[in-house]
Amino acid sequence: MKHILIFLLLAGTVSAQSKREKKVVFVIADGIPADVIEKVATPNIDKIIAQGTYTRMHVGGGKNTYSETPTISAVGYNSLLTGTWVNKHNVPDNDIREPNYHYHNIFRLFKEAYPKKQTAVYSSWEDNRTKLALAEYVDLHADGYELDTANFHHDKQRDFMHNIDEKVISEAVAGIKKSGPSLSWVYLEYTDDMGHMHGDSPEFYRAVSLMDAQMGKLWEAIQYRQQHFAEDWMIVITTDHGRDEKKGRDHGGQSARERGTWMVTSYKPLNSYAKYYEPGIVDIMPTIARYLNVNIPDSVAREVDGTPLIGKVAIAQVAADLIQGNIDVKWKALEDAGNVKIYVTTTNNYKTGGKDEYKLLKEVPVKQEHALVDVKALNEAKDPFYKIVLETPANTVNLWVK
Ligand SMILES: [Zn+2]
Repeated sequence: MKHILIFLLLAGTVSAQSKREKKVVFVIADGIPADVIEKVATPNIDKIIAQGTYTRMHVGGGKNTYSETPTISAVGYNSLLTGTWVNKHNVPDNDIREPNYHYHNIFRLFKEAYPKKQTAVYSSWEDNRTKLALAEYVDLHADGYELDTANFHHDKQRDFMHNIDEKVISEAVAGIKKSGPSLSWVYLEYTDDMGHMHGDSPEFYRAVSLMDAQMGKLWEAIQYRQQHFAEDWMIVITTDHGRDEKKGRDHGGQSARERGTWMVTSYKPLNSYAKYYEPGIVDIMPTIARYLNVNIPDSVAREVDGTPLIGKVAIAQVAADLIQGNIDVKWKALEDAGNVKIYVTTTNNYKTGGKDEYKLLKEVPVKQEHALVDVKALNEAKDPFYKIVLETPANTVNLWVK
């Protein structure tokens, strides 16, 4: 009897929780290295960390590998949106000439899963919505102020950029309070401008303080929704790249500080993958998808370079080496049970909108942490190319061997 009662109580709690709708706000505050966000006083962000998590993170892809990615703004935004590095998303700079939209972004994945739910972009750069998130997947927006030189006169000190960020924040706060979109992206630029103009300096640190105050306003809007509506919100605040070690004015390269970013979230606890490995910006997309219960179609999931930072993860840190017709695959096991299915294809048709025929070549226990996969029958080419997918019930990881 006692057991039944406890069961009923638990079931009641679960159903009460699941009636609360989950919503996400993610923020990119441009160009703030990890050491700077850690050094400057950020009382508002600290409040979010107090109930959630702060972690260091990296951008830049796999250094000296096929996925190495410039530490440049739009490149980072698109890694965040698609969960892939530049070898896939194809935004190598801020011109955003030919993004490869076959790697679906979180707005598209969300709207395809929940066509009736609302999305929003509040941004100090219009291209973020029109070229990256894509307007057709964004219901509400406030952006384009950088093109309005009458109201935001482009002064030399670039104070107008702070004014634009303020406008973006006031629109985001109003939009969240009034409409409570399920998925919002807030993008703020002033910190990067001050970094470029002044490097590591009081001006740059002041910009970080101003951004912190803006996060306080956003957090308040989220609290308001949580108090007045049956909603649970996750906020994720991150940056798109670090800055150079010497002066802090530049970025784009692969130095530790340029690659060294961070993430703040109101969510806790992050999973053992986030705890034991250094997450990358590509991990945020699958994390948001998991929080919002967005089912990522298999074909898309097999291309995602990130690993969710919440919920169950079975394998991480996958590496592979081609040895005389065999691929030697290794990984770290984060679960004791379950199997890894190892799929291999020699094509990359996905890149151009086609389909890859994966062959299941091996299935071994997760805890084995390695497998030797015979691929001699697959490829006779002089320049072999293999896309490998490791699938477990908890998470899927992919990598290329060339
Ligand atoms: Zn940037």
